Amino acid sequence: MRVMSEAKGPKCPRCGGVISYIERQKKGGKYYYYAVHYLGYTKTSTGKVRKNVKKCYLGPETYDYVSKTHSDLGIVFEGAVEERRVIHYLDAFIMSLTKIELDKPTLIEIINKLKYLVERLEEIVKEYE
Ligand SMILES: [Zn+2]
Repeated sequence: MRVMSEAKGPKCPRCGGVISYIERQKKGGKYYYYAVHYLGYTKTSTGKVRKNVKKCYLGPETYDYVSKTHSDLGIVFEGAVEERRVIHYLDAFIMSLTKIELDKPTLIEIINKLKYLVERLEEIVKEYE
């Protein structure tokens, strides 16, 4: 997932709109994150100015339940608010491969997949140039 930053601010991974700010809500001892988008102001019939906002749910701090099922790989899933989560997953994956024992065919399969991945990523990087 690419979350590109603009001069105005980071883009929302849910709706693609510009994030005005990130709101954190605590529920049951856990934090949940929302991207808040300003949608301008409206005047009510009484003449008061009301701020219009839209909130997009970004996820909990960590996805505990899913992470438990991947604990053998040392991967902790993070909410969409964490822009560097792809790097964190990759680091955890690399660490796990050096820890668990794998047979030769599996290792060769992993090597081939990683070679393909490097080629694809280099192609994508070239598109940016
Ligand atoms: Zn949004």
